[in-house]
Amino acid sequence: MDSIHGPSNGPVDRTRALEAAARARAVLQDEALQKVLVASTGPDIPVPRQIFVNRNLHFSRVELVGFDMDYTLAIYHLRRLEELSYEMTIDRLVTAKGYPEAIRRIPYDHAFVMRGLFIDKKHGNLLKIDRFGHVGRAYHGRRALPDDELQQLYRNERIRLKNPEYAWIDTLFALPEACLYAGIVDLFERELATPCDTVKLYDDIRDAIDTVHRDNSLKAVIRKDLAQYIFKDPELGPALHKLRSGGKRLFLLTNSAFDFTRAVMSYLLDGVVAEYPSWRNYFDFVVTDARKPEFFSGANPFLEVDQTKDDNAVLGEASMLERGRVYKGGNFAAFERLTGSAGESVLYVGDHIYGDILKSKKTSMWRTCMIVQEIEDEIAYLESRRDEVTSLAEIELLQARLDDEVQRRKVRLNQVERRIERAEGDVAQLEDEFRATKAELDRVRKALKECSSVVKIVEADVEAGFNAFWGLHFKEGSENSRFGEQVEQYACLYTSRVSNFLFYSPMHVFRSPRELMPHEQAGALSGKLGVMGSEGLPKASLRAPTEIP
Ligand code: IMP
Ligand code: MG
Repeated sequence: MDSIHGPSNGPVDRTRALEAAARARAVLQDEALQKVLVASTGPDIPVPRQIFVNRNLHFSRVELVGFDMDYTLAIYHLRRLEELSYEMTIDRLVTAKGYPEAIRRIPYDHAFVMRGLFIDKKHGNLLKIDRFGHVGRAYHGRRALPDDELQQLYRNERIRLKNPEYAWIDTLFALPEACLYAGIVDLFERELATPCDTVKLYDDIRDAIDTVHRDNSLKAVIRKDLAQYIFKDPELGPALHKLRSGGKRLFLLTNSAFDFTRAVMSYLLDGVVAEYPSWRNYFDFVVTDARKPEFFSGANPFLEVDQTKDDNAVLGEASMLERGRVYKGGNFAAFERLTGSAGESVLYVGDHIYGDILKSKKTSMWRTCMIVQEIEDEIAYLESRRDEVTSLAEIELLQARLDDEVQRRKVRLNQVERRIERAEGDVAQLEDEFRATKAELDRVRKALKECSSVVKIVEADVEAGFNAFWGLHFKEGSENSRFGEQVEQYACLYTSRVSNFLFYSPMHVFRSPRELMPHEQAGALSGKLGVMGSEGLPKASLRAPTEIP
């Protein structure tokens, strides 16, 4: 087919490129090399413990690795902490905000909430949305909204993060508030038959849970029994040690105050590795009370904390950041200046999609790694249903193909019918063609109907098997969920826990699987580009040798 404009480049001598392509083929077909590659792939890292890559990262170029604390270095026993903050929030709602005693009867239901959901404050609903902002499913209280109600409320609505009518459950700390919100809406409307001001309810719950965090009542309970609430990952110390041995400097940047930080970090790291008697020995810089996300755009000064006290008292403003000292507050610009590391030489590891990942990505050049502890369960679950997931993907491809085939035959039938009406050409032959095409159309349609039904059943079953209310974290129907999309967009890397770094060399090149754009996937380019890795490497080498310590 003629192109619209014709080539805009001048005459090209393709000799060099063709020669190079022949050399590439020789490398790809080098059997001895293949043997070496296969032999040296090293022991596989279990999938749930791998580090996944959205954007390539040469770890050797990272000088400074920073960590958030809560839900990043410190992995909480999710349900225990959720239940604790749930109970404390309910108590505050009853004692300080006049909510009826009956709300104490609402049980906590861990399965009913997941990170990435939205609360529609105006309508009192919990929503799961896809990457385009479309609502895929919703609950009013504990009642699933049927399709017609969903359509009526949200058909023309795209949910945006910034819209104040919606609250985003973007951190694991917020799971209890979502569960409580749904529970109270349900209790008021169904059991107490009392109208519920769903906007005020959200504000009251938010305020109560905020107070429980700020007045230290929650932390006081956690501190009394750290082992009950925090999982002590035995590989954490060795993983940090490995990074330091690889020449990285480490820092801690947490919103928690010094007293709590010291208690938690001592519990996690003191004496775990012989070379590091204290948790402080791992870190070159320690910043507490950092007030992220404000840290990334604000101008708060760094204050030095008085470590001899346990009340977060400060000694005064700091003009430099020193090893062994602890700071409070601070800001991103001063941090880069005082540490001498900036931009892409810094990797920040955190769990909060907004405060740690999205905000740092938008305001800095820091590389980011998001801790998504939920993926361990999700991956293990998907592996357990691998057969269905694979056949689902195959049948979806077939479904799309059949859909095209139906359209093609419908167009052809129309054309033939018109020609028969106008008696154009050999009518008997046209009638034969009409019958044959019609028979094919019926067959393809029947198969399409069957495929659609199968897809619906398998998809619903796989999703419900993971979570009967909300399905998979990263998916909404056949699209990525909004949560999945945000992780993909803002986290250079993501993984289930910090200790997964133990499986990788500090020089590792994290490579993202090469994605082709739709126009590249179509036609001739797909074959050529598809076999190449992200930097023109054969796919075999994407499975780069990984080092197990
Ligand atoms: P980071 O994850 O180490 O930066 O610290 C999170 C800190 O935020 C912890 O000290 C939490 O107690 C605190 N936090 C979490 N949710 C809330 C809230 O709703 N209000 C106030 N503090 C919170
Ligand atoms: Mg955190």
